[in-house]
Amino acid sequence: MSIQLSLNGVNRSFDGFKAINNLSLTVEKGELRAIIGPNGAGKTTMMDIITGKTRPDEGEVLWNQTVDLTRTDEADSANLGIGRKFQKPTVFETHTVADNIALSLKADRGIWATLFNRRTAAEEARITELLELVKLDGDRDRLAADLSHGQKQWLEIGMLLAQDPELLLVDEPAAGMTDAETMRTAELLRGIAGKHTVIVVEHDMDFVRALDCRVTVLHQGHVLAEGSLDHVSANPQVIEVYLGR
Ligand code: ADP
Repeated sequence: MSIQLSLNGVNRSFDGFKAINNLSLTVEKGELRAIIGPNGAGKTTMMDIITGKTRPDEGEVLWNQTVDLTRTDEADSANLGIGRKFQKPTVFETHTVADNIALSLKADRGIWATLFNRRTAAEEARITELLELVKLDGDRDRLAADLSHGQKQWLEIGMLLAQDPELLLVDEPAAGMTDAETMRTAELLRGIAGKHTVIVVEHDMDFVRALDCRVTVLHQGHVLAEGSLDHVSANPQVIEVYLGR
């Protein structure tokens, strides 16, 4: 396996407060990685640094072992193949599920051609493939507005995948989902990993368990523990951070 992303000795302060404190982290290509940690641990700031929304004060952030991500902005990062899904779903509510995917496909036809011309067979096939992946193949003609919260999250993941990112960053996808949706989301992300690298920030431990992947625990801006969920949850420092003991 080759390395997709590495952070080495990254620091970022806000008004003298070290939100990210000597953070080092490596993610392999095709890996599914969960990032957990209490509020204020630096998870969002870390994602902001990876996507070029925030610049670190110090340290190295390397993409595919070559590209320096500390000098990129959000547009550069999208062009490099880094997709980010924020917590709240953003879909085109007044369009169908299939149109939402079609509008997100990498294409040189404009928005009007995509919506009002007949789609090519290749586009239709790709839309079907993506909808199967995000478990919405039975919903392609429904308006996005009529989907459940969980389905909107899946649709947005499908829209990001339509851009064919190498790395997908997903922020708390299980928030607000039913238990069944949460488990389906874990299954869906496991299905995406391999072809894409996936980093998920999440609080819901049942969901993290269902992801069945390597877990990184962040605390005070650095890595407190890493390994399987069983491994990190047996770590006394992790227990102390989570339970205050
Ligand atoms: P998490 O996502 O793990 O909850 P964050 O990355 O949001 O943690 O925040 C880490 C710390 O950095 C928090 O104490 C937060 O208040 C602080 N912080 C984050 N962004 C800013 C900002 N733009 N200005 C000031 N403080 C910030």
